[in-house]
Amino acid sequence: MALNILVVDDSSITRAMIIKTLKIAGLPLGEIHQAANGQEGLDKLQDNWIDLALVDINMPVMDGEEMICKVRARTEWENLPIVVVSTEGSQTRIERLQRKGAQFIHKPFSPETIGEVVSDITGLDNEPIEADTDF
Ligand SMILES: [Mg+2]
Repeated sequence: MALNILVVDDSSITRAMIIKTLKIAGLPLGEIHQAANGQEGLDKLQDNWIDLALVDINMPVMDGEEMICKVRARTEWENLPIVVVSTEGSQTRIERLQRKGAQFIHKPFSPETIGEVVSDITGLDNEPIEADTDF
């Protein structure tokens, strides 16, 4: 099974890093979709089958927390695996997101962390690729 992934972050550089890291982590990837804010993220979810969303918190237009609240309010998305990837330091906010079923990864992140959290949340095994592999 290949995972269709949605990466939501206002930084295109961060999105590219997350995608590269997912590849290095050796996860079975299908389609990869990107969005620059929460509203775009909701639009991508509406138009595509997504198995996993990685979501930043601080973004213009609609932040990640509002996006996650809107996702969880929809029955078809209430069990969507969500990983928050953020510099967020507020434990209160992190716990609020965890209560909505989101896992949390601090930026900066390592390929190992992304691989472990994603394989844990999706139940899929990952086979890490040699770190010096070019993409
Ligand atoms: Mg941001």
